[in-house]
Amino acid sequence: MSHPFVPSPNVASIKESATIATSQRAQALRAAGRSIIDLGAGEPDFATPAFILEATKAALDAGATHYTAVEGILPLREAIAAAATRRRAGRGEAPVTAGEVVVTTGSKQSLQHAAFALFGPGDDVLLPVPSWVSYREMVGLARARAVSVPGDPGRGLKITRTLLERCATPRTRGLMLNSPTNPTGAVYDADELRAITDLAAERGWWVISDEIYGRITYRVPEAPSVLDVAASRDHLVVINGVAKAYAMTGFRIGWCVAPRAVARTMTALQSHTTSNASTLSQHATLAALTRTAEADTAVRAMVGEFRARRDAARGILSAIPGLELIEPDGAFYLFFKAPGGDGSAFATRLLEEEGIAVVPGAAFGTPEWVRASYSVSRAEVERAMHAIVRRWTA
Ligand code: PLP
Repeated sequence: MSHPFVPSPNVASIKESATIATSQRAQALRAAGRSIIDLGAGEPDFATPAFILEATKAALDAGATHYTAVEGILPLREAIAAAATRRRAGRGEAPVTAGEVVVTTGSKQSLQHAAFALFGPGDDVLLPVPSWVSYREMVGLARARAVSVPGDPGRGLKITRTLLERCATPRTRGLMLNSPTNPTGAVYDADELRAITDLAAERGWWVISDEIYGRITYRVPEAPSVLDVAASRDHLVVINGVAKAYAMTGFRIGWCVAPRAVARTMTALQSHTTSNASTLSQHATLAALTRTAEADTAVRAMVGEFRARRDAARGILSAIPGLELIEPDGAFYLFFKAPGGDGSAFATRLLEEEGIAVVPGAAFGTPEWVRASYSVSRAEVERAMHAIVRRWTA
């Protein structure tokens, strides 16, 4: 007897990640023999630095193959806490402790568990538009309501204190923030972040700050963090991870720094979902975060190559008169308005006619736009940008 599946209300409205769907479509076309340049991916194309791989092998040989504490191994949490404490220097505050850190399976799990721990039915959560595909789903899974805050076109589509005030409701409990930003590549400066964290403190809102691209910036060595600017951190949940800056997407390690009570609740939640993040990956991450000279050299080389690709791409795209391109100051994305203001139609044409995969802006709440990542070789970036110019003017 067949047994029909009716999705529960928990997942009834959930949609597959549009960025992952784009990459899968590109892979399917490639498998069918088409030559495809995939600018849809949200992951660096570099090899994981060798010293991190060696540390992973050493951990394996040392028998790091069993459960750890749910919240993660102590030396790793201490390293994360110490880095957060350095950002709060000079304020006379108590140092950030390992008890305020939870290590998770990717930063994705930190984001999901933070949203789950902080928000629930009846709560509104302010969400920048455009923003990364998963925030809206995460807020929805917590049964809270995502309230869109359209970014300021005059400021690289970033949200501002004024825009947040305009969109706030009596039920607002918090906001999601992301700098450097996926999908735009925009980076918030310290004053912009301070204005937002001040407002959140005044209103009693939580700020979940996703800083996963923090080390991938081109104008400043590292993007400002809310930890650098907020008067107090008692309303901050700061999320980071190794996926992007260290080319460690497959290791699946992220973390959050949060007030102790929040960290404790997230740990309890994690104890019933995934338990600890992969033990081997935690040891790999410990190397990435504590062998700083080697890590800095590796990150500098990768960011340098991203910068060269960005510059090359921007140079080629400048042939398009009046192109609206967000200033790409961080992450590895170009975000531009499509011809005719139809991002999906342009993405389809690029894929079918030129073999170039990009993500339609609709995935991020802005259907007129398109996102192209430059996490493919420089030669491919250049070929793809020439194809975009060709299609534009065709
Ligand atoms: N946050 C943003 C803005 C991202 O773009 C991504 C990945 O694409 C993530 C979080 C998830 O990263 P992780 O691999 O650490 O789960």
